Amino acid sequence: MMRLVFLGAPGSGKGTQAKKLGEKYGLPHISTGDILRKAIKEGTELGKGARRYVDAGELVPDGIILRMIKEELTKNKRGFIFDGFPRTLAQAKGLEKILGELGLNIDGVINLTVDDDVIIERLVARRLCKSCGFEHNLQTRPPRKMGICDRCGGELYQRSDDTADVINNRLKVYRDKTRPIEDFYRSRGQLFDIDGGGDFDEVSGSIAEMVGAV
Ligand code: AMP
Repeated sequence: MMRLVFLGAPGSGKGTQAKKLGEKYGLPHISTGDILRKAIKEGTELGKGARRYVDAGELVPDGIILRMIKEELTKNKRGFIFDGFPRTLAQAKGLEKILGELGLNIDGVINLTVDDDVIIERLVARRLCKSCGFEHNLQTRPPRKMGICDRCGGELYQRSDDTADVINNRLKVYRDKTRPIEDFYRSRGQLFDIDGGGDFDEVSGSIAEMVGAV
């Protein structure tokens, strides 16, 4: 069992790649963004507290996120793929502390790098399935039938934070708050940079190679 973290700007493809890797190795894929969106949809306390941050492309406070993660880790101690967490230095340090208390550590951090202009193009063209969550892209992975999921026939939608203004803010937040984590893991010899600019299969090939070497 492996414990992996995916780092990468919004639109770097980390969600899709993390999901695929999870299926391949039978590891739970834990996306804090997915957990928050579900909580918002269901109107739970967590959702009510998180909504305004997610809508604005701002980060949800570290305390809320770390509580969520602690709960996830009690269910998935043995192995996991974190996607979209940690996102601040305080979260990375918090994760290290929680894992340390359990006598565990991270096996590797995959850092997907993609140029900003490619990211913006990808995000505005992204369409997700309401039923199964499968990700399509009007440019790179268009659905066979307009508005309909190839995988399950569900209805496709655009995430409310995938608009130009909010995307720009999310990229700024990534540069300011999340980039510093790269050095944190790099200095521990845990960071693996992977070029996320290629097509899906190319990138997943590079990831498989890296994971095989961990
Ligand atoms: P994502 O699906 O990873 O792009 O996340 C969508 C939104 O959820 C982000 O723009 C943040 O508002 C919030 N979010 C997700 N993960 C975190 C995290 N680890 N820390 C703070 N906010 C987060």
